[in-house]
Amino acid sequence: MGGYDNNNIFAKILRGELPAHKVYEDDKTFVFLDIMPRAPGHALIIPKAPARNLLDVAPGDLAAVMATTQKVARAAMKAFDAAGITMQQFNEPAGGQVVFHLHVHIIPRQEGVPLKPPATFKETTENLTAHADRLRAALNAA
Ligand code: AMP
Repeated sequence: MGGYDNNNIFAKILRGELPAHKVYEDDKTFVFLDIMPRAPGHALIIPKAPARNLLDVAPGDLAAVMATTQKVARAAMKAFDAAGITMQQFNEPAGGQVVFHLHVHIIPRQEGVPLKPPATFKETTENLTAHADRLRAALNAA
């Protein structure tokens, strides 16, 4: 397994060096929208502390990520009038990981609507902004 690369895309987002459609943050976690959503409202939950993936993350940071993941999942059910939630998390290239800062995917689902294939559809900035606003509002109302 490789180490943690301080210049991965999500580390740059955390440092404010790259833009993101931010939804939420607390002292240990940060949430933003996936720019290639597999369904509308597809969000990513990451720890602020460096961690490559599930295999090296500190247990306290993992616990914080999971607590935030549950908040986001509950808010996404309301914000996107979802019938269900798919949670995904990939580790190492063989496990499907592409960006090497731990992240959990929360994807709102509708009955009978399949997920778009990964990394195939780049959402518009207008829609990402609107979806981030909706999810943020639902989180603030919780
Ligand atoms: P994976 O490591 O397989 O979970 O995939 C990385 C995910 O990050 C994919 O769903 C990408 O669409 C997403 N992604 C890549 N770059 C960005 C970015 N700059 N902002 C938000 N999401 C991104």
